[in-house]
Amino acid sequence: MAQITAIGGCAHPIHLTGSTTTRDGATGEILHHYDTRNEPGERLLVRCRNRRATVCAPCSRLYAGDTFHLVRAGLLGGKNVPTDVRDHPRLFVTLTAPSFGPVHRTTRDGDRCRPRRDADRCDHDRPLGCPATHDATDPLIGQPLCPACYDYPTHVLWHAHAGRLWKAFTDNLYNHLAARTGRTRTGLRRAVRISYAKVAEYQKRAAVHVHAVVRLDGAAGPGDPPPAWASAEDLTAAVRTAAAAVHMRTPYSRVLGEHTLRWGSQIDVRPLRAFGGHEGLADDAVAAYVAKYVTKGATGAATGLDHPINGPDDIPTGRLSPHVRTLVHACWRLGGLPELEAIRLRSWAHTLGYRGHVLTKSRVYSTTYATLRADRAQHQRAGASPDPTATPGAISEKHWRYIASGHSPGASLIAAGIAEDLAINRELAREERHLHAERKGDA
Ligand SMILES: [Zn+2]
Ligand SMILES: [Zn+2]
Ligand SMILES: [Zn+2]
Repeated sequence: MAQITAIGGCAHPIHLTGSTTTRDGATGEILHHYDTRNEPGERLLVRCRNRRATVCAPCSRLYAGDTFHLVRAGLLGGKNVPTDVRDHPRLFVTLTAPSFGPVHRTTRDGDRCRPRRDADRCDHDRPLGCPATHDATDPLIGQPLCPACYDYPTHVLWHAHAGRLWKAFTDNLYNHLAARTGRTRTGLRRAVRISYAKVAEYQKRAAVHVHAVVRLDGAAGPGDPPPAWASAEDLTAAVRTAAAAVHMRTPYSRVLGEHTLRWGSQIDVRPLRAFGGHEGLADDAVAAYVAKYVTKGATGAATGLDHPINGPDDIPTGRLSPHVRTLVHACWRLGGLPELEAIRLRSWAHTLGYRGHVLTKSRVYSTTYATLRADRAQHQRAGASPDPTATPGAISEKHWRYIASGHSPGASLIAAGIAEDLAINRELAREERHLHAERKGDA
């Protein structure tokens, strides 16, 4: 019970066996010894650290929290990032996938989904329009009007190259900002540095959207103010033209025909305002917004495609929409072509071909997940015995082995109970803080 509490009620812990011995490097004296032989079941449980709420709610919550701090530090400073970054030009950018075929969409104010005056039908004898109105809960939303017309190969190829499309965009960004500010690319690179953190979000049509925080620094990074001639307005304009200019020809024309991949024409760029300002989006809210996405699975919360699949028979039938299932099948089928080996579509069929991490960031954007975890571990140790491995000259010998993962049915119930208690405690603490703040406000 203590172990499950220590890992916050993680739903799929990893069981390790082994020991760590820390000695004084000079005298050989044992400073600290930990051995799982003294633990119940002779094992130590560690967190699964899965980011998906469908796999492990407590770990995904922790991951979202770390993401929030990571993104926030790059916007507002803190965690070794100077607070002056809040005065640098910062943007919230959304780049979309292009259309791969018309899909049913949410409509507002009684508007029709895809109104058409004529009654034309496609080659498969399906109507080219949709006169219905769909509310946000309609399962039809995101499903193609005609699955046979929908360009499934391009959809998964686009996912497979989304990382390279992003790279092409960031490369372009320097060129376009240089052109706008009347400088050479080299001249611009000597004066500014562009940093970002981005997350991928799957839309209803199961195509990835990229949300990114983009920050303009001086050439030396976050501690260096950008030159006065590099404004948020110029950066905004450069983002739009740089994204629109990305064109990528895929090298598979022999087997799949010509494909030119580009970003969708819906490009959203908004300046971020510092706390207390009025123009643009609030930076703190954006960090929370970005953090929310990292805990979602690839294909929406209820689909359960959290792991790579072993073959087409491995694709769950009930939980996936026909559209998502067809995308998974397309990945499997195209992944079998030797020409497409490099993009490993079969290994990434569960993410519909998208190989990127959910959150990626440029090197100097802010801190890292590893640093945040180490800080948390240190914080939790504070007040307890000091970390013996931190003693100068100490040498640690570690022998650890993986033995299993998951919980027994009984332990699983205990973990769920602990996770729930922790969630309730957090909620109570939040209410308490809220009340306290209100009382202070009244006074
Ligand atoms: Zn976990
Ligand atoms: Zn419709
Ligand atoms: Zn059709």
